[in-house]
Amino acid sequence: MIQLRNIHKTYNPDTANALHVLKGVSLDIEDGEFVSLMGASGSGKSTLLNILGILDTYEEGEYYLAGKLIKNLSEKQGALLRNQLIGFVFQSFNLLTFKTAVENVALPLYYKGVPRHQRMMMAMEQLDRMGLKDWADRLPSELSGGQKQRVAIARAIIAQPKILLADEPTGALDSKTTVEVMNVFRELNNEGITTVIVTHEQSVADATNRIIRIKDGNILDI
Ligand code: ADP
Ligand code: MG
Repeated sequence: MIQLRNIHKTYNPDTANALHVLKGVSLDIEDGEFVSLMGASGSGKSTLLNILGILDTYEEGEYYLAGKLIKNLSEKQGALLRNQLIGFVFQSFNLLTFKTAVENVALPLYYKGVPRHQRMMMAMEQLDRMGLKDWADRLPSELSGGQKQRVAIARAIIAQPKILLADEPTGALDSKTTVEVMNVFRELNNEGITTVIVTHEQSVADATNRIIRIKDGNILDI
C-alpha cells in the first residue's frame, strides 16, 4: 500500500535555516497493516506522516501509494488522491467549532457532492457505530476529549479511505480514553483499513501490530 524509497526532506532548503529532517527514509506498509510510527519529539514523525498524507512534498526519493508514484503532483492531483485514499486524525481533533458532531462527520461527503439528506444519514450511522448517536447535535465544546476524537475518527472514515493516518491521536487524552480510542482504531483496522498511528507513547505503539521507530530522521532497523 505504501512504499518509501530513500526519502529526503529539508525545510527551508537553500537558506541559512535549512533543516534536513528526513535523511533517506525507506519503508513498506502492506495493505491492511496496523502500524505505529514512534520516536522522540522532533524526530520527524509528523513530517513523514504529512508526506504519506500528500500534505507535504519531499526533495529526493520515491513514494508509491497504492502503486502510484506520489511526486511532482499538481495541487489538484494531490487533493484528488488525498480525498479518494486518505483519512486524517489529529491530536487536537480539528473539528469545526460552530458545526455539530453530525455536521462535522458529514463534511467530507459535502466535498464529494453527496446530497445533504444522504450525507446526514451516513454521518448519523457512523456516529451510531462510535456510540455517539445521542451526541449528534452537540457542538464540539459540549463533548469530552474522547468523544471529540471519536467524532474526528468518524469524519476521517466516512468517505471510505484506504488509509487512516493519525498524528498523536491520543496525545490530548487520559490513559483510559487512550485505550478506548485505540480500540476504535483496532476495530476499523479489522475491517481492512490500513492504519498508521504516530505516537511517542509506548503503550499506544504496543496497541498496534508493528512498531516503526524513527530517530533523527532515520528509520531504525528492528
Ligand atoms: P515530530 O512530529 O517527530 O515531533 P516534526 O516532523 O514535527 O517532528 O519536526 C521535525 C523537525 O522539523 C523539528 O526540528 C521541527 O522543528 C522541524 N519542523 C517541522 N515543521 C517545520 C516547518 N514547517 N518548517 C521548518 N521546520 C519545521
Ligand atoms: Mg509531531
